[in-house]
Amino acid sequence: MPEVSVTNLGHDLYLIDALMHDRPERLACYLFDTPERVLVECGPSRSISHLFEALDYLGIDDVATLAVTHIHLDHAGGAGHFAARFPTARVAVHTLGAPHLADPARLLASATRIYGEEGMGQYWGPMEPLDPARLLVLDEGDRLSLGGGRSLEVMYTPGHAKHHLVYLEGESGACLVGDEIGVAFPHGHAIQPDTPPPDFDPVAITAQLRRIAARHPAFLGLAHFGPHFDPPRALAEAEERLWEAVAWVEAADPAQDPAPAYRDWVIAGHRSRGTPDEEIAKYDDHTFWGMQPAGIRRWLDRREPPATAASAS
Ligand SMILES: [Zn+2]
Repeated sequence: MPEVSVTNLGHDLYLIDALMHDRPERLACYLFDTPERVLVECGPSRSISHLFEALDYLGIDDVATLAVTHIHLDHAGGAGHFAARFPTARVAVHTLGAPHLADPARLLASATRIYGEEGMGQYWGPMEPLDPARLLVLDEGDRLSLGGGRSLEVMYTPGHAKHHLVYLEGESGACLVGDEIGVAFPHGHAIQPDTPPPDFDPVAITAQLRRIAARHPAFLGLAHFGPHFDPPRALAEAEERLWEAVAWVEAADPAQDPAPAYRDWVIAGHRSRGTPDEEIAKYDDHTFWGMQPAGIRRWLDRREPPATAASAS
């Protein structure tokens, strides 16, 4: 079992490795250890004891707000357990995610269809409903106080999920991007989009990547995994990989399961761009490959057909 892993990013901001799936560098939580403490992401209940150990290690006995970027289980599944451990904390979430934290039955049912009962226990664990009185519903332009004159600015960033938020902070220059730009392989920082059903929308993601770039953050804090200190490069790479992936799925035979060939193609691409094999292996190991082309296919099947010359006249 790995030890507690905490990194000081400066400006009272800490990266806490949530040791999701009992592995390092699967999920990053970000703690602003400010007068009003805000923790971004808590991870699934299955691994939340690791987060509690890290908070104990830092001497944190109260947190004002747990702010999740979105309600996927790897980010927010443990929110109810967190709220029980920190009884004065609020849980901040986008409007469209809030009902699922108050009543996670539908979220859990759809996840169980994907992962199965065994997978749910192995990866995520149970989800406790949150008292709606503890929810803080956020939307574009809202600000979450950190105390001492600092605050997190909220961007509403549908694209990876329709309930996705990004958090910006001025003093540290942090832009905590959740899953919006994708996954950065640990250390190597090769970017790969994260394209699960049902909400994945590459047009929306592209708009968010450009909005984030326009804010000129000092660094991007990815959930999977860690800080990326060259935002313009990461955002450009994310956009390029995103549309390559869409084009690959669009060209694939819809009658065949695309996952094995998609996996081979993604891995070959990263290898050809010089990403070290051990980084690729870590990414391969934590990726649910079936979900990636499935989300793209769903978007392709649902998108509006392009307007033809005849219908435009
Ligand atoms: Zn996600």
